[in-house]
Amino acid sequence: MNFHVLTLFPQMILDGLSTSIIGKALEKGSVSVEAVNIRDFTENKHNKVDDYPYGGGAGLLLQARPVYDAHRYVTEKIKKNKAEGIGAQKRIRTIYLTPQGHTFQQRMAEELAREEELILLCGHYEGIDERVLEEVVTDYVSLGDFVLTGGELPAMVMIDAIARLVPGVLHNDSSAADESFSGYLLEYPQYSRPEVWMGKTTPKVLLSGDHKKIREWRRQAAEEKTKKMRPDLYADYKELMACKEWLLKNKLHHTDMTELIVRGQAKLLFHSEAGVLLQDKKSGVYMLTVKDKKSGEAILEQVFGEAERRREAEAVSLFVNHQEFMNEAVQKRFHMQQMPVCKQMVYTRKEALPKKEADIRRLSVSYLEVIAEKYTLVDKSVLKERLVSGVMYGAFVKEELAGFIGEHEEGGMGMLMVFPSFRRRGLAEALETDLINRTLQKGYTPFCQIFEGNESSYKLQEKLGLYCAREKLWWFCRETCREMPGNDEARKCN
Ligand code: SAM
Repeated sequence: MNFHVLTLFPQMILDGLSTSIIGKALEKGSVSVEAVNIRDFTENKHNKVDDYPYGGGAGLLLQARPVYDAHRYVTEKIKKNKAEGIGAQKRIRTIYLTPQGHTFQQRMAEELAREEELILLCGHYEGIDERVLEEVVTDYVSLGDFVLTGGELPAMVMIDAIARLVPGVLHNDSSAADESFSGYLLEYPQYSRPEVWMGKTTPKVLLSGDHKKIREWRRQAAEEKTKKMRPDLYADYKELMACKEWLLKNKLHHTDMTELIVRGQAKLLFHSEAGVLLQDKKSGVYMLTVKDKKSGEAILEQVFGEAERRREAEAVSLFVNHQEFMNEAVQKRFHMQQMPVCKQMVYTRKEALPKKEADIRRLSVSYLEVIAEKYTLVDKSVLKERLVSGVMYGAFVKEELAGFIGEHEEGGMGMLMVFPSFRRRGLAEALETDLINRTLQKGYTPFCQIFEGNESSYKLQEKLGLYCAREKLWWFCRETCREMPGNDEARKCN
């Protein structure tokens, strides 16, 4: 991931990020930081980039032109580098650090960590001429309700928070997954040597080596801590847990929704005895389940009906219905296409499957071209994002990639394919077995969604012990689907 900071103080940015974990990530090349001096783009012979605000008032303003030219320099450079590759046409996210913006939060860091390029614009003096902000800025972000002298410290804070989420930056990727705000709770208390300090002992369970008990203790301790320190977060958490209980009444049918909650990805938009509407914070997919048509329509009206929510409704690009009788209402409201009917299949046991004889490895982004050439059901940019997130796995035969599988953003297993010359050797089974076991290891429930009629995939799931939900699912998407659910290609695998 590449950060480009537009600033009057480039050295401050480079010095501030050169130590410890981020410094090492910069050395390794997992992330890069370019600090562009806005002053280099002034045409003023005294290098001036600021002037008095029209209408009077205290202080000076950064002028539009040097900021615009510095921004153009960066965007043109990025576009030139991507001329042949994917993402060349995409508008590059440009963040203006300002006390007037949305407050920076972990969710935002997670979302931004999936960008390849990020431009951060630091203001100074009294800020920046409004006209250039209108021209180049895509997001306005604040560090909090206080005023600093410049945007450099906020930019560094954002880079630190975002960069540590980029795969490979932290030594152990799961340490980011456990932290405060990554789910719904604050992190549990932690202890290190010595076992007893100032008469205070370390909780015994942490010394037991029993990982199941340790996990449970940590969950409870995280709950207690959140209740005490952040009652607002705790109240949201309790509501989500109540919602999960409701969904579990029809476990197989709702596994996609409960897994969003379990994996810390769910945004709860509506919950009552009449139904649940969730949004996946990662992919943006909406998931709806309701008791009857009338309450379903009322939920959609409540969530998307008001004027200020209409924009949100227009931005809905993927929607999953859990009841057929809601299809018409969803289609009418969001003007989306209905995709083939899906069946949800779930691995309900807690025990791992016996490992199959196969050389299976996590795939790096260097496999993008070969995968994208063979697997065209999902967009190349989605495949790239999945590779970067470290959730695509390949089966190798004599060092040659023979097939692959991955996890969709929403959490389901899919994107399964074995190349023709390697079929009929059990590689699809080996790949899915491996992914099931990895999913279980994280404490999650493995599931997938397959299109009705995809008999060979159905047989594979059954063979691996997955159960099929009685009720079906209906996916909706905009004209060009970003991603197809399920492992449709599996039919070519076995
Ligand atoms: N006049 C501006 C206002 O009232 O909104 C404040 C300007 S501030 C003195 C100068 C620069 O510091 C801003 O342009 C912005 O880039 C940065 N800055 C100050 N406080 C910030 C905050 N809380 N979050 C992010 N950036 C901030």
